[in-house]
Amino acid sequence: MSDAMLKFVTVGQTMPRKRSADVRRDDFDEIYDEFAEEKAAEQASRCSQCGIPYCQIHCPLQNNIPDWLMLTAEGRLEEAYEAASATNNMPEICGRICPQDRLCEGNCVIEQAGHGTVTIGSIEKYITDTAWERGWVKPAVPMHERSETIGIIGAGPGGMAAAEELRRKGFQVTIYDRYDRVGGLLVYGIPNFKLEKEVVARREQLLRDAKVKFKLNFEVGRDASLAELRQKHDAVLIATGVYKDRDITVPGVGMQNIVPALSYLVASNRVCLGDSVPEFESGDLNADGKHVVVIGGGDTAMDCVRTAVRQGARSVKCLYRRDRGNMPGSVREVQHAEEEGIEFVWLSSPEAFLGETTVQGVRTQIMRLGLPDASGRQSPQPIEGAVVTHDASLVIKALGFDPEDLPTLFGEPDLPVTGWGTLRVDWGNMMTGVDGVFAAGDIVRGASLVVWAIRDGFDAADGIHAYLESRQRDPLSMAS
Ligand SMILES: Cc1cc2nc3c(=O)[nH]c(=O)nc-3n(C[C@H](O)[C@H](O)[C@H](O)COP(=O)(O)OP(=O)(O)OC[C@H]3O[C@@H](n4cnc5c(N)ncnc54)[C@H](O)[C@@H]3O)c2cc1C
Ligand code: SF4
Repeated sequence: MSDAMLKFVTVGQTMPRKRSADVRRDDFDEIYDEFAEEKAAEQASRCSQCGIPYCQIHCPLQNNIPDWLMLTAEGRLEEAYEAASATNNMPEICGRICPQDRLCEGNCVIEQAGHGTVTIGSIEKYITDTAWERGWVKPAVPMHERSETIGIIGAGPGGMAAAEELRRKGFQVTIYDRYDRVGGLLVYGIPNFKLEKEVVARREQLLRDAKVKFKLNFEVGRDASLAELRQKHDAVLIATGVYKDRDITVPGVGMQNIVPALSYLVASNRVCLGDSVPEFESGDLNADGKHVVVIGGGDTAMDCVRTAVRQGARSVKCLYRRDRGNMPGSVREVQHAEEEGIEFVWLSSPEAFLGETTVQGVRTQIMRLGLPDASGRQSPQPIEGAVVTHDASLVIKALGFDPEDLPTLFGEPDLPVTGWGTLRVDWGNMMTGVDGVFAAGDIVRGASLVVWAIRDGFDAADGIHAYLESRQRDPLSMAS
C-alpha cells in the first residue's frame, strides 16, 4: 500500500468524532462492543409499544419495528433477527445508512414527545450483525427449483434485493454489472466511514451461496443490447441507478481541480478497497493539504465534505444556495459534518471559478430566500452587489444526478420514460411498457434511498413471479 493510501486509511479510521448533539445514540455506539446486548435491550425497552406504530408506517419496508424491539428487550435476539429480516434482506445496511431522522426514528412517538427517539437503526444493525456473527444468516434456499431465468441489470441494492427474493422463489438469476464489484453505490458511492465495504461483500457472498450468478465488467448497451438479454431470459429487471452528473454553467467551470462528486467518491472508495488509483496518487482526486469547496446541500455533498476532512484537507467549506432549514440532506449528517469542523456557507451560489488553468477560488453571489416555488421550497434570489470569494484548490460539484438515456443506450426506443428521464413502470407490478421488462430503484424514482431500492427490489420480484406464473397458465403467451 502506498504512503498516500496508508495515510488515507489511517486518518479515515482514527479521526475522533464528537457527536454531542445526539447523546443517546452516542452512548449506544460507544459501548457497542463491550455491553452491546444489555444496551440494545435497554434501548429497545424504551419503546412504548404504542397503538399506532408510526415508526413502522414511516419505514419504506413497513418493518415490524415494535415486534423486534420487544424481542430484543426480552433478549430473544434470534427471533428479533427473524422478524427484522422478514421484510428486509439488508437490515444491517439500512440500520447503518437510512436517514432514520426522516423515516422511522423521526416519527417515533417518544421522539415526538421530546424524550429522544428509540435508536431503531442502531438496534436493527446490532441484531443483524449479531445474526451474522452467530451464523443465523443463511442463503436463500428455494422449496423447489424453477427453469425460468431472470436477467438483472445492476448489482446495486435494488438488483441485489430482487435477486435474493427471486432465488427464494426458485428462479435462476444472473446479475450483469458494468462495475468490477457488486454493490453499486453501496460500494462506490457511500463512504467506508458510513458503510464498511466488508458488510456489502458479506451480502454478495450470501447471494453467490444462493447460486445467483454475476457477470461483472459487463455493460448493457455495450456488451449486449436489451433485446439480446430479453431473448436469453424469461424476464429482465433494470436496476441501473442514476449516474449522469448535474453540472453548473458558470465561467471557469472547465478548469483543473473542479471535479464531479461521484468521481471523487469512487476514487476514495477504491483507495479504501486497496485499488491503485492514479488520479488519487497524482493528487487530482485527493483533498490532502487542499482548500476544499463542495457545492451542494444533499447527502452526497455531506459525504464529500466528510471524506475531504478524513483525507487531511486544510479547510473544507460547503456552499449551498438556500439556508439550513431548506437543505435536502439529512439534519443528522449536517450535524456530524459541523462537529468535524466543516464550515457551511448558506445562501451562497457560485458565480465564477477563479484561476488560470487550475482553480484558485470561487466567487459566490449571496442570496436571500423569496417566496415558495411550485415544490413548496423558498426560491433563492440574488442580493444585488453582494459577492464573496472563497479560496479553493479543489472544488467538488455535488449537484445531484439524472438518469442516463436508457432507451438509446439499450437500443430499445420503446422503453417508456417519464419527463425526468426515469423509467415509467406500472407501480402495481414494476413492469415497464416493454413486455417482461421490469425496473426498480433509482432508475424509477430518481436519486433516492437504499431502503426504497430494496423495497422496489421486493416489489419487482413479486411482479416478475406473478408475470411468469400467468405465462405458465396461458400457453398462448408462452408461444409468442
Ligand atoms: C454519494 C452517495 C451517498 C449516498 N448515501 C446514502 C445514504 O447514506 N443512505 C441512503 O439510503 N442512500 C444513500 N444514497 C442513495 C443510494 O445509494 C441509492 O438510492 C441506491 O444505491 C440506489 O440503488 P440502485 O440499486 O437503484 O442503484 P445503484 O446503487 O446506483 O446501482 C446500480 C448498478 O447498476 C450498474 N449499471 C448501471 N448501468 C449499467 C449498464 N448499462 N450495464 C450494467 N450495469 C449497469 C451500476 O454499475 C451499479 O452497480 C447515496 C447516494 C450517493 C451517490
Ligand atoms: S429500514 Fe430504515 S426506515 Fe426502516 S426501520 Fe430500518 S432504519 Fe428505519
